[in-house]
Amino acid sequence: MKKVFIVTFAVMFALANNVSAKVISNEKIDAQKVETASKIIADLQKDMQSFTEKGSGPFVAAVYDDKGNLVVKVANSVVNEKCSNNHAEMNAIKAAEQKLGTFDLAPYNLKLYVTAEPCMMCLGGIMWSGIKEVYYGVPSKSVEEITGFDEGFKPHWFKEFKKRGIVVYGNIEPELGEQELTRYVNNGKKIYMPSRESL
Ligand SMILES: [Zn+2]
Repeated sequence: MKKVFIVTFAVMFALANNVSAKVISNEKIDAQKVETASKIIADLQKDMQSFTEKGSGPFVAAVYDDKGNLVVKVANSVVNEKCSNNHAEMNAIKAAEQKLGTFDLAPYNLKLYVTAEPCMMCLGGIMWSGIKEVYYGVPSKSVEEITGFDEGFKPHWFKEFKKRGIVVYGNIEPELGEQELTRYVNNGKKIYMPSRESL
């Protein structure tokens, strides 16, 4: 029932403001947050190509403080750094914690913006980091359809994050991100997955 309400509200909001009808959240949608996130995520999506040309994976994340200042911006580095944990979100959290000299980001009221929906590993990483707000572009379903990545199982994560005081907004400006993911696949770049086989 609550989900129906949120989706209905999102559609009403979208119709009123001429933005993507697919924006979803685990709070009452705040137009200012959506507008800010749309700009930031569109910029991150534009950065995807330059990162992948340097060997990064096709996902980019940034952390901003509550005054709107950029703290860090990084890409996925699973292939080029040979580490399966190096998703964009995990790299962003690590870089922010190192920059601020802490393992607890909660007192800083930070926001994480990422070009695609976090996978099951990154949801854990976000939960443990103290990040307060998460904004993503391309939904996992589209990521899986375009790339074949396995995003994992993530039951009721909007609700679970809400219980832990973490705000989530999803499906923000997904079209450009989907185009970049498609280009990554069409260019024959590495689709990294565990092989599930022995050597
Ligand atoms: Zn991930």
